[in-house]
Amino acid sequence: MKRRHWPTGLDTLAYGGDYAPEQWPKPLWQEDVRLMREAGVTMVSVGIFAWALLEPEPGQYDFGWLDHLLDLLHHNEIRVDLATPTVVPPAWFYERHPEALPVNREGVRYAFGSRGAICYSSPDYRRAAVSITEQLGHRYGEHPAVALWHVHNEYGAPISACYCDTSAAEFRTWLADRYTTVKELNEAWGTTFWGQTYNSWDQVRPPRLTPTVGNPTQQLDWARFTSDALLASYQRERDVLHALSPGIPVTTNFHAALTQCDSLDYWAWAKEVDLVTNDHYLPADGDRKHVNLAMTADLTRSLAGGRPWLLLEHSTSAVSWQPRNIAKRPGEMARNSFAHVARGSDGAMFFQWRASRFGAEKFHSAMLPQAGTESRIWREVVRLGHDLGALAPVRGSRVVSDVAMLWDWQSWWAQRLEWRPSVDLDARERAEAWYAAAYDRHLTVDFAHPEADLGDYPLVVVPALYLMTDAAGANLRRYVQDGGTVVVSCFSGIVDERDTIHPGPHPGALRDVLGLTVEEFTPLPAGHQVRLDNDTAGNVWSEVVTLRGAEQVWSYVDGPVAGLPAVTRHTYGSGSAWYVSTCLTAAGLDAVLRAAIAPTTLTPRELPRDVEVVERAGTEGRYLFAINHTGDDAEVPIGPGAELLTGDDVSGSLHVPAGEVRVVFRPW
Ligand SMILES: [Zn+2]
Repeated sequence: MKRRHWPTGLDTLAYGGDYAPEQWPKPLWQEDVRLMREAGVTMVSVGIFAWALLEPEPGQYDFGWLDHLLDLLHHNEIRVDLATPTVVPPAWFYERHPEALPVNREGVRYAFGSRGAICYSSPDYRRAAVSITEQLGHRYGEHPAVALWHVHNEYGAPISACYCDTSAAEFRTWLADRYTTVKELNEAWGTTFWGQTYNSWDQVRPPRLTPTVGNPTQQLDWARFTSDALLASYQRERDVLHALSPGIPVTTNFHAALTQCDSLDYWAWAKEVDLVTNDHYLPADGDRKHVNLAMTADLTRSLAGGRPWLLLEHSTSAVSWQPRNIAKRPGEMARNSFAHVARGSDGAMFFQWRASRFGAEKFHSAMLPQAGTESRIWREVVRLGHDLGALAPVRGSRVVSDVAMLWDWQSWWAQRLEWRPSVDLDARERAEAWYAAAYDRHLTVDFAHPEADLGDYPLVVVPALYLMTDAAGANLRRYVQDGGTVVVSCFSGIVDERDTIHPGPHPGALRDVLGLTVEEFTPLPAGHQVRLDNDTAGNVWSEVVTLRGAEQVWSYVDGPVAGLPAVTRHTYGSGSAWYVSTCLTAAGLDAVLRAAIAPTTLTPRELPRDVEVVERAGTEGRYLFAINHTGDDAEVPIGPGAELLTGDDVSGSLHVPAGEVRVVFRPW
């Protein structure tokens, strides 16, 4: 059967939140549904933490309350994203199977009483998770309320790996699949260094606590194994639901922000879901949180291959799990929601519908706060529901992007292992810095896997790709050869998939395309900067670059390599390859970006800083989203069109008041 990629029966944008009526007396459910209708809610997520209620004793089920709830929601035309509750098995399960609780790197077993305490290699957990999923699939697989299946919750958060003996045995099986023989494993892991040679598979263990730095390739393979083990757990439940509920798409909510989940290779995961969905929470620190949001939304859309995706959770105001939980300012929730929609989400959903009175997240904001309907949050929730209702035609349209940025979780895992040239060189920080530079030029970014087809992008940025396979190197070489422009940032192309340095001088995977070699890394002392001869500066890193075909664009004027090339350009085939050998600050990144795009077909928009403009293209026309994150009114140049939130006709210039959002439709 052909798989569906959008919640069944939902013909508008998705709007709603996690709904946990099990925390409330039944008479309140009627009020909830009445208020949902008032707010324009179209879908809610149900049952995420309900295993102990659905199966109160082993093999004894109580579906009465969920039957009643689904009927109530269906009667009120609210679609349901129905969860499998497998992120928190009941207390009785752990009483019977204490070994299903995960063990940390130090050998300490976690306890029941929170969430996500699971050894994904436990056969008892697997049996129990499949069993409760089968029960739900049989009972609700064809229920008219159910629009989407929501497997588990936020795999990878708060923990991923389990270092127990059962997981160790599974790790050995995974390694035997990858390397076939112990001899090959020894070669891949470089075990002749520090005398770590293995004679048999039985001697191989997870990277448990060691006196000093453990084998880096062992740690990298362990990270890969962990992502795969969790993915297999998802696949087991998904396959049950595909068989029992073929008309309903299956997803699991990602945590794709690099600030939130770092343990899953989402390029692999994205291939396994019918609809990519994501949860996003603003980091508490930083003064431009909307840039973090935009980057996460672009990354999520890229995981979806450019197809529409769905924001399954964000917050109406403060969260509860950061040291200082900063409340959103008036209008910020709407700007956040529209920014996700602008960048490809076909809806905006929240954790959660009604604020809890008890439990770990009772200070987390909700659509219906403790203050009730006489509140700013509720008024903004109702307005947002109304506004998203006006954007129903946007559904299914595709974001128009400008440049590609390469990102690879496996490279990130490898780069941040111990004993690198500098602890200050942070792949995530570089990705965020380059993304911000593109954002500030009003360029819309797609992320791409290093081995993906880079097609017609006029510009590709490589912010941090320490690990590059030969295939990735060849891919980039081909792209430039055929006329592309690439900008590569320092410490990229250094090692292969085994964390083994490419033969010859650095950067082995990129020497020819960049037209240079790096003789030595010369990282900077903490807090130091180096100046360049174009009046910009770098920090953290510098290196001894020798030109071998490339030309120097800018050089260092001070620091350990004063006088040597800092930024270079190499003509290669019909394209050009830029190299940046330090961690440039914002002005330097902007200078490189402007110089690199000047000869390309890209024409950055001339707009005020933090006025975010993104376009989606549909079958009928284009939708231009303009989000004003500033305190001043802004004008956005635009052709004739119809503004969808105010109903105004616009032509020539779109007026976007301070803090407001406008969406203009222009037919083809
Ligand atoms: Zn385990």
